[in-house]
Amino acid sequence: MAKICPVCNQKVSMFEEVWSRGKSLHRDCVKEFELQPEKYIRKAEVPSNSEPSDKDFITTLLICVFLGGLGAHRFFVDKSDTGILMLVTLGGLGLWWIIDIILIVTGSFEDSEGRVIAYQAAGTANTAISTHVPEKVAEAPPAKDIPAQIEKLADLKDKGIITDEEFQQKKQELLDRI
Ligand SMILES: [Zn+2]
Repeated sequence: MAKICPVCNQKVSMFEEVWSRGKSLHRDCVKEFELQPEKYIRKAEVPSNSEPSDKDFITTLLICVFLGGLGAHRFFVDKSDTGILMLVTLGGLGLWWIIDIILIVTGSFEDSEGRVIAYQAAGTANTAISTHVPEKVAEAPPAKDIPAQIEKLADLKDKGIITDEEFQQKKQELLDRI
């Protein structure tokens, strides 16, 4: 298996390989990595498909309960290769069927892209991804609010709630967003 350097996302060959905190890196990348390892470890280990599946939990469960012995739920989540296997073996003589029901109920069953089919309150199954977006947008206010925010910060500084240093730093962060 090719090792991927978490700093530059390039392959690491054994000739330039250096280990740090359990990660394999380029000799040239270690310095950068040691400065802020959290940033790179997180980036490298967050699965690209961490969002929930667009397949509905209840539907998957019902299909599995009633037709799971024929692998129908696996066809439903686009895992037709194991679905066929399940059909041929009659749900692994029932055992595989039971295991899949347990996996679905406990929210561990994955679709063909490795996304977990998790239970969500009615009507939100397909909106989970979009509800994440406003949260992120909320972190970075629109540019037009930034002067007002800087004013608020200046106010906080005047009242001695934040230090001049903190004020300068925050102000710079806000200005960078404009
Ligand atoms: Zn590198």
